[in-house]
Amino acid sequence: MRPQQKASGKLVLLVEDEPDMVRGLRDAMEFEGFTVISAGTGEEGIGKARKDKPHLIVLDLMLPGEDGLAVCRRLRGAGETVPIIMLTAKGEDVDRIVGLEMGADDYLGKPFNPRELVARIHAVLRRQTERLALAAPAAEGTMAFGPFLLDLAARTLHGGPEPIRLTTGEFSLVRVFAQHPRQPLAREKLMLLARGRDHDVFDRAIDVQVSRLRKLIEPDPANPRYLQTVWGFGYVYVPADEALAPAASDPPEGAPR
Ligand code: CA
Repeated sequence: MRPQQKASGKLVLLVEDEPDMVRGLRDAMEFEGFTVISAGTGEEGIGKARKDKPHLIVLDLMLPGEDGLAVCRRLRGAGETVPIIMLTAKGEDVDRIVGLEMGADDYLGKPFNPRELVARIHAVLRRQTERLALAAPAAEGTMAFGPFLLDLAARTLHGGPEPIRLTTGEFSLVRVFAQHPRQPLAREKLMLLARGRDHDVFDRAIDVQVSRLRKLIEPDPANPRYLQTVWGFGYVYVPADEALAPAASDPPEGAPR
């Protein structure tokens, strides 16, 4: 296990009825810097989830009264997006799957090493942070673009050793891509969105601009990760978290770009 950063007081709600489990898991999480509150029933857990707004919930499947799946379903049904790690007993494979379908973020089969739970908590929180960073505008006046942050006022890309200053044309194009992640855009549409109706450039001008942008932002411009070619159509912007997956839109093997 790689060393983890201390969790600077993030609040974890542990919903579990067995006192020994509660004690052991609480110790392991508090040792890592988490603040832990606990609940012995689903009902109490839901109440604390609403009142105390934990950063994450560790939810045991087997609880007196309402079980963990029902609790998970009720929380998600009420629009709670807090990450949930479900604890299951050995041999509950079906329940494990159902648990994830109910909206849990991860599960762990008992018995487990408390350190494994702590590692899962870190991983789930990290994924959550990345998701939020990509979903929401990072700050007012900025947008995520590939591994960069686009400053809309200064028209610069931040995240590399030096800020990259964009030309007006590059900036318009970057903004269009950033506003349409995962959406294949035809050249004409790109042109229209970037330049408005009065453009007087030929289609190929978009290819030139895209190839210039790739030189600015791609680790390997010959094998673009973020600005991918949709063969015979146009281009698609693939955000950073998905850029490592091979794109369905890549041209066939050996085809020119
Ligand atoms: Ca239990």
